[in-house]
Amino acid sequence: MAACGAAVEAAYWAKKNGDLKITLVDKAAMDRSGAVAMGLSAINQYLGIAKGDNTVEDYVKYVKNDLMGIARDDQVADIARHVDSSVHLFEKWGLPIWTNDEGNYVRGGRWQIMLNGESYKIIVAEAAKNALGTDNIYERVFITEPIMDGDRIAGAVGFSTRENKVYVFKAKAVLASMGGAVGVFKPRSTGEGLGRSWYPPFSSGSSAYFTMAAGAEMTCQEVRFIPVRFKDAYGPVGAWFLLFKSRATNAMGEEYMVTRRDELANWVPMAPLSLSLLTCVTTSVCWM
Ligand SMILES: Cc1cc2nc3c(=O)[nH]c(=O)nc-3n(C[C@H](O)[C@H](O)[C@H](O)COP(=O)(O)OP(=O)(O)OC[C@H]3O[C@@H](n4cnc5c(N)ncnc54)[C@H](O)[C@@H]3O)c2cc1C
Repeated sequence: MAACGAAVEAAYWAKKNGDLKITLVDKAAMDRSGAVAMGLSAINQYLGIAKGDNTVEDYVKYVKNDLMGIARDDQVADIARHVDSSVHLFEKWGLPIWTNDEGNYVRGGRWQIMLNGESYKIIVAEAAKNALGTDNIYERVFITEPIMDGDRIAGAVGFSTRENKVYVFKAKAVLASMGGAVGVFKPRSTGEGLGRSWYPPFSSGSSAYFTMAAGAEMTCQEVRFIPVRFKDAYGPVGAWFLLFKSRATNAMGEEYMVTRRDELANWVPMAPLSLSLLTCVTTSVCWM
């Protein structure tokens, strides 16, 4: 997802700077690779700055609160100021976003907008293909190592997952966006529940390894996301709480998000009580 967006952006700047060559490499088939593969029901971040719905500062405050203060304001603000224009591009490329009678996006919560997103990844991958040309896209090549020239990155090495081939990509600059890392921490669930994760198990930490091997300093690694366990799966709040207004109850039928709200008082000042329940507190309370 990030790489497709980066491809579109990079192609634009490459043209302006003497037709630089941009190459995109994916370990799977780009149309259905990554976390968006099966499609999504919502876009979890849309500020609506032009319509006055929210400001960048509002969003930074929300994220800092949700992560109990552990967040880089500058990075969060940087994402927040660009996100609306990315969403508008998705819509221009054909992503069906829900609108109401007034023509405004339908929100599933303060920050979320709803969509018919089955083909989300195909639509965004198509934009990347149009921007780069399919000759510059290598699919089913698994990147394993950066190539270093002293302290500088000079490319990447990978192997084909279909043929007996090794690839060496030489480059002046490399952007790594190979997803997150699932299953780093042992879950408390055992037996059948052990293998169930919300995030794709094929997000096996390539980005973390690649960037560390290239000398990157890892920061903001303190936050672990432990999704709430539902009856048959794990999942984040998304559509369940925000759109369907579901209630989360424990084995005793207790609506713990309401009855355990006072737990937040134990975390002041990290968790300001003025805002909604935090994702990490919500999930930890769920596990208690
Ligand atoms: C079940 C589920 C539901 C979700 N619902 C929503 C939602 O409703 N709204 C929302 O906004 N977000 C949702 N998300 C989150 C969203 O999908 C992700 O945050 C987003 O797709 C992450 O983008 P990314 O580019 O970082 O990673 P990805 O899109 O996962 O891309 C990683 C890419 O790297 C490739 N790759 C990995 N390792 C290598 C390697 N070694 N060599 C080469 N290529 C490699 C993969 O093939 C993949 O193409 C959901 C996620 C899941 C799992």
